[in-house]
Amino acid sequence: MHNRLAQEFVIDELTKVYNRRCFYQNVKNAVTNPYTILIIDIDHFKSINDNFGHDMGDQVLKEFAGKVNALFESENIFARIGGEEFAGYFPSSNIDDVAKFSQAVLELVHTIKVKDDRFLTVSIGIAKRISDEALDSVMKRADQALYLAKKNGRDHFEVAP
Ligand code: GH3
Ligand code: MG
Ligand code: MG
Repeated sequence: MHNRLAQEFVIDELTKVYNRRCFYQNVKNAVTNPYTILIIDIDHFKSINDNFGHDMGDQVLKEFAGKVNALFESENIFARIGGEEFAGYFPSSNIDDVAKFSQAVLELVHTIKVKDDRFLTVSIGIAKRISDEALDSVMKRADQALYLAKKNGRDHFEVAP
């Protein structure tokens, strides 16, 4: 019972990846400086629910989280931070590496079938921590980059200035 409660405290019930609380806690405790944050948001997810039902939406979330989580190495953190929104933490400031990783996520997601000839896409916002910037501020800049990725056509990533 105690173990189950402890699990629920850090693991997202539906997707079985880390939850939002765990993500913030871990990143705040991380000692690396600088680091890079990704926010990954599924494109047009509402229309998946509307067209194919909420259960199908749940299935897609599970498949997405499982596949993308497998791409993350042990020193990186992947978590569900909102409904169809996920975040990644990299203890590295090498934007080229993170961009390569993001490209791999975009391509992996294209293999997730929603129904018939409809496959999944996501948009990604990337922000690298500047000196001793607060996590909330890094997240905000990653979110602004995500907004740009959505605005500029979805299915790609943008890096915050
Ligand atoms: P955009 O490309 O701009 O991100 O559009 P979107 O439709 O993905 O974004 P929007 O924020 O309009 O809709 C997100 C939807 O995700 C709305 C909400 O009902 C759905 N959602 C959130 N959590 C869950 C969940 O756990 N299961 C299912 N099936 N749907 C969820
Ligand atoms: Mg979305
Ligand atoms: Mg969203």
